[in-house]
Amino acid sequence: MALEIKSIKGTADVLPSESYKWQFVERLFIDTAKLYGFGEIRIPTFEDKRLFIRSVGDTTDVVQKEMYTFTDQGGRDLALRPEGTAGVNRAVIESGLINGALPVKLSYALSCFRAEKPQAGRMREFHQLGMELFGSASPSADAEVISFVNDFFGILGIQNISLEINSIGCPTCRKEYHAALRSYFEGKKACLCETCLGRLEKNPLRILDCKNPECHEIAKDAPVVLDYLCDDCRAHFEGLKKRLDAMNIAYTVNPRIVRGLDYYVRTVFEFVSGDLGAQSTVCGGGRYDGLIKSLGGADQPGIGYAMGVERLLMVMKAQGIEIPAPASCDLYIGSIGEEASIKALQLVGSLREEGFTAECDIVGRSVKAQMKYADKIGARYSMILGDNELAENKANIKNMESGETREIALDDETLAQFFYDEEIESLSAAFGADLDIPEMNK
Ligand code: ATP
Ligand code: MG
Repeated sequence: MALEIKSIKGTADVLPSESYKWQFVERLFIDTAKLYGFGEIRIPTFEDKRLFIRSVGDTTDVVQKEMYTFTDQGGRDLALRPEGTAGVNRAVIESGLINGALPVKLSYALSCFRAEKPQAGRMREFHQLGMELFGSASPSADAEVISFVNDFFGILGIQNISLEINSIGCPTCRKEYHAALRSYFEGKKACLCETCLGRLEKNPLRILDCKNPECHEIAKDAPVVLDYLCDDCRAHFEGLKKRLDAMNIAYTVNPRIVRGLDYYVRTVFEFVSGDLGAQSTVCGGGRYDGLIKSLGGADQPGIGYAMGVERLLMVMKAQGIEIPAPASCDLYIGSIGEEASIKALQLVGSLREEGFTAECDIVGRSVKAQMKYADKIGARYSMILGDNELAENKANIKNMESGETREIALDDETLAQFFYDEEIESLSAAFGADLDIPEMNK
């Protein structure tokens, strides 16, 4: 019978043959963030729908077209989070963190949901690694988060990824800019899509981010926001550039970046890869100084970003960056008879306590089938226990690659010592073997 119910379009299963890569980048991200003083926050998968309408913005594609919304049994209007910033902002207000020691520095790894057209690098459930920094309006905060991303890519060995920055001003300078955009697009109304006609009135900046090819074409010659910055915004942007220069972080100013979320002010940035085809932005972020206040919190500035895990792994694959795979099994213990199978259970237990991966037969198969299985799972060593081995308390341990065997006493300490002597790395040490990374698994 064929499988009747299949996974939903735009979602994916991550099997063990791939999941170790996910664990690696997520753990590296959260641990490296710790070095910069960012602690991990975990937030709910769904929220009050109004949170996203208010923060992401009701004229954005994310809210207008992509959000998964539903009404629950209690009649509440909810949404699966399309991104992490809104929820983290709500959480820092609700928890009172925003009223404590500033800056508040948070990192996260979470899944997001957007009803988009699935394609390479564009999923309906996807995963983000992100950071938010609250309580500093200084360009040093912008430089801190941008330099983190730059360092993180460096640690992973990613090349050919460029940083593009822009400033989209603040509510003060945006008034004049919006007026300039309106008068530009007013004359081209006939070519704008239905959605953008609405945006022309409410939020003309959003037209610049429209995916419709015709709107996109017209937007190319629209006035750029950099020409309209007020003195404070200009000084902030110059301050950021000065810091990036001082930190030797290469960037280009791309006046066309506006980002697809309404809460951004001043700095916006993207890291773009030449190895990704159409979905080339691996990481996007920016400053959102009015957001906390507009959600009912203190008047505190914030800045953050998120990078897509799927796209990050795609870039690493394209660049041939290998993530060390943990050994699937250090020792497989086969057995004949009940007593031997119980001894095998005890021995694998003690090895696991030492951090080695060990398995034994739990199916009750023939020795031949057990050894076939050991081979299939790629066990490094194997041994078989029967009546003789139990009587003498000794067995032959076999190196599955060379076929070499050695006699070994069947006690916990001798067995563990064997693996230490062979310099088999315990599972924790195997992570990050060939990469120059900060110590992990702490
Ligand atoms: P895009 O322009 O590709 O639609 P975006 O501006 O909507 O991206 P953000 O909301 O800034 O993206 O999200 C940050 C990052 O999350 C993106 O740079 C990307 O790596 C990832 N991302 C966003 N949407 C998706 C998706 N549908 N599938 C996979 N990754 C995504
Ligand atoms: Mg998008």
